[in-house]
Amino acid sequence: MVGEYRAGEVTIEWLGHDAFRVRRPGVTVYFDPYNLRGYSPRADLILVSHEHFDHCSPGDIAGLLSEKTIVAAPRIAVKCVGKAGAPRIIEAKAWTPFNAAGVTVTPVPAYNVNKYRSPGRVYHPRGDGRVGYVAELGGVKIYHAGDTDLIPEMERLKDMGIDVALLPVSGVYVMTPEEAAEAARLIRPKVAIPMHYGSIVASEKEAKRFKDLLSGEIDVVILERKV
Ligand SMILES: [Zn+2]
Repeated sequence: MVGEYRAGEVTIEWLGHDAFRVRRPGVTVYFDPYNLRGYSPRADLILVSHEHFDHCSPGDIAGLLSEKTIVAAPRIAVKCVGKAGAPRIIEAKAWTPFNAAGVTVTPVPAYNVNKYRSPGRVYHPRGDGRVGYVAELGGVKIYHAGDTDLIPEMERLKDMGIDVALLPVSGVYVMTPEEAAEAARLIRPKVAIPMHYGSIVASEKEAKRFKDLLSGEIDVVILERKV
């Protein structure tokens, strides 16, 4: 386990669950800030995947805001993000790229195919417009999958040349380690980092299983949670 992952001048830190801080000199981006232990540095850009409490946390977003922070969220999470008092909100739609804070962002679909809340009803239905993100900064392309299963749209990510894929591995609401490994084989990132374990559901066991499954195929880096 390492405390951070570096690619060129870009540093990626895991803040627990699906929360990450990605930095290059002069730019700080947060993905799905939740249950953070500190709020420094403030965010230039916050990317929120959807409205569920462990992804859209108004208190955590508020802690990271400065007068120039831009927050992106799909329509279903705009109300949640609004509660944080974000000065500028961009509505994220799958496959509609935007530029913010010097970062090129492409929202991508995120939904369930086989994780059921009740018979016939998945946790994250396809039609609800929840997203993951491909964010490019400092020449490094990072894919944050959000809450998703292995979905056919991931095929398109292979052609985008993903450097680092942040993939959920807990099962229950999202991909299992086996499904996440299959997704990584489809996406072909240079490096995969497991997420969505260690707080709400699953433990490091799932992260290690994911790493083992991809042994000899794709580099997997398990990050220590940053204090
Ligand atoms: Zn969710």
